[in-house]
Amino acid sequence: MTDILSSSDHQAEQSPLDSLGFDDGAPLLEVKNLHVEFHTRDGVAHAVNGVSFSLEAGETLGILGESGCGKSVTAQAVMGILESPPAKIAGGEIRYRGVDLLSLDEKTRRPIRANRIAMIFQDALSALNPVFTVGWQLGEPARKHSGASRGQARERAVELLDMVGIPAARSRVNDYPHQFSGGMRQRVMIAMALALEPDVIIADEPTTALDVTVQAQVMDLLADLQRERDLGLILITHDMGVVADVADKICVMYAGGAVEQASVYEIYERPAHPYTKALLESIPRVDQKGQDLTVIEGLPPSLIARPSGCSFHPRCAFARQRCTDDEPPLYDLPAGRTSACHYWEEVLDS
Ligand code: SF4
Repeated sequence: MTDILSSSDHQAEQSPLDSLGFDDGAPLLEVKNLHVEFHTRDGVAHAVNGVSFSLEAGETLGILGESGCGKSVTAQAVMGILESPPAKIAGGEIRYRGVDLLSLDEKTRRPIRANRIAMIFQDALSALNPVFTVGWQLGEPARKHSGASRGQARERAVELLDMVGIPAARSRVNDYPHQFSGGMRQRVMIAMALALEPDVIIADEPTTALDVTVQAQVMDLLADLQRERDLGLILITHDMGVVADVADKICVMYAGGAVEQASVYEIYERPAHPYTKALLESIPRVDQKGQDLTVIEGLPPSLIARPSGCSFHPRCAFARQRCTDDEPPLYDLPAGRTSACHYWEEVLDS
């Protein structure tokens, strides 16, 4: 930690947070039965429907699913940046070190963002302000939260750029976002997330806009920083290849629900939900040259008018009458994994 951020000013800024009674023995982050609704003219969209997961220091949780499955909304709820209205958190808990963030008013919760839980957004060009230099934007948290002088904030910006591998950081600090390549801008976003040394980082599709080589470099950087700093990392993605390399455990989301959770090894070796299995089968493989790609037929359901029973039944190869009639509960499987499928044993053995 730099002198700037370990200054007495920084400590003074942190004390209101410490008075919230964070318990170092409690899980770093725990989301329990989270429900998020969007009130629209067409009706209420249940974007997040009873999602639960937990995250410890040094752990990486991959949240995986198609567009519109609720993964980004879940992340925004954890960050406390959902626009309300139209969004409304209709139930559940989001606990950071034992304290339910949903029980705090916005003024109390605001400093937790960036200080304790920070986010890397998917579109660095939109997330960075085009009219300020990268150095100014990176130094702002030090000025705002630690009372750092301009010079100190600039030094902190150089240090952060250096930390994320921007070559010649001292000379690039006065450049504007458009002067950086896509991969370098994403590194700047990572530096911004690290600026106040949070414990949890949520990375929302951090490599979507990057080519494969740069994607791998950015993921390696994130993984290295996470290991060095013992961070809890939530990686949100639709790309099964990206999570396979870095995640410890995976939460698969479909139509707002967490349909399967397990270690990364179990998910890839023996999925226990037909949706996870179908996602795995749709990954192109080099030994399938000349064969048609496997696709998941149909589209995700409307979040306003869900199908009866299991939301996945119109697309599911394992579906039968019970799936249309009864919504599956979240079944507890051996080794602490869960699956929202009536026929999870059959899927495991298939
Ligand atoms: Fe498929 Fe039925 Fe399982 Fe739903 S409950 S995933 S429809 S088999």
